[in-house]
Amino acid sequence: MEKREALKRELLTQLYSLRTVDGHSHTYAPDVYYAREINLFNLQHYFQRDAAGLIGPWEMDAIEDPGECWRRLKTALESAGNTAYWRHQLLVYRKLFDFTDPELDDANWRRLDTDIRRKTSDPNWYDYVTRSVCNLEIQVRNVGWGEAWDRRYFAGVLRMENALRLDSAEGRTALEKRLDRPIDSLKAARAGLADLASAARSDGAVGLKLAHAYFRTLDSRPVTETRATRLFEKSLGPGPLDPAEARELQDHFIFYLAELCAELSLVFQIHTGVQTTWGAIPESDPLLLLPLLNRFRAVRFDLFHAGYPYARMLGMLGKHYPNAWLNLAWIYLVSPAASRQVLSEWLDLVPIHRLIGFGSDVHFPELIWGHLEMARDCVAEVLTDKVTQDYWSEGLARDAARKLFRENGLELYALKK
Ligand SMILES: [Zn+2]
Repeated sequence: MEKREALKRELLTQLYSLRTVDGHSHTYAPDVYYAREINLFNLQHYFQRDAAGLIGPWEMDAIEDPGECWRRLKTALESAGNTAYWRHQLLVYRKLFDFTDPELDDANWRRLDTDIRRKTSDPNWYDYVTRSVCNLEIQVRNVGWGEAWDRRYFAGVLRMENALRLDSAEGRTALEKRLDRPIDSLKAARAGLADLASAARSDGAVGLKLAHAYFRTLDSRPVTETRATRLFEKSLGPGPLDPAEARELQDHFIFYLAELCAELSLVFQIHTGVQTTWGAIPESDPLLLLPLLNRFRAVRFDLFHAGYPYARMLGMLGKHYPNAWLNLAWIYLVSPAASRQVLSEWLDLVPIHRLIGFGSDVHFPELIWGHLEMARDCVAEVLTDKVTQDYWSEGLARDAARKLFRENGLELYALKK
């Protein structure tokens, strides 16, 4: 037992010392972060989703009286304070805001709120938390069309959901505005997307990203250019496309984006698993991506969120598809218990160079820290188990820690050290 604890402690120390590559980021840039006062009630992220069924939409910024905000939060905590989304918040308060009590309550919330307001308004705080506390090398961050990213903290990945809306006038207008030219044919649409992607590439972007499982199935099939041209023409003229036709045209663009990733050596990041409130969970099953992965064997697909709850399926996908990188983004704060199980199985199944061990998937640097804490603990725990139960050497465990948190990310996204 003592030997086990000593090994876990040693691995934890190693994980703290690694400058982590964050494989999936939505972190606010510093100017957005400092644009409003941050407090206990808006320094939040996913718990809002658990609370929605209890208190409705979060909307705490619209309430002036902090006491009223606390009454709402307390109502949510009485029934939802068990979820990992909330335990993650508490961890952040403990590590960064000197919070020492077991739970948030009537007697301590105001002190915590005051501390959050004070610390987060310090102009050096954002950088201090990101670089000194989290010890991040870089965050691979989602950027929208035309959005710049701060190179001190981020590498960009261009979001492409808009490419799946080109059957609508609004969708076409978005692309026309970006390029300042008409998108009046499938050919023009494809050329437009190619120009956007290659401009992003020249600007240093490392990949394209699709989160289409939020609004349609991940299941997509090849659709010929001839068929897609007819569909595009219908959407321009007599339109609108019926749902099956719209999906076919989207499928065509999904495959075309993979083609662009192949041509431009970009990583193709895809959201799988974990959805939001009322989300169509079965549509996010990563196994639905097999036709796409099969067709584009030279593209490096970076599949998110451990595919949870389809994590075991994603593990087998990773075993059989050498073009699939499995990314543990978001998963530690979804469920520490699931993370331990998933990581342990994946370490048996998948060549280690295709596992990305951390993706923060939150808006605030403080919440990255809490997520990192959960990730480090999980990884150290699982690697210790590998040594004590599953025939691993200590050297292999130390090597895996380095790869999961840093080296695999540097390699996949071709980032300079
Ligand atoms: Zn995300």
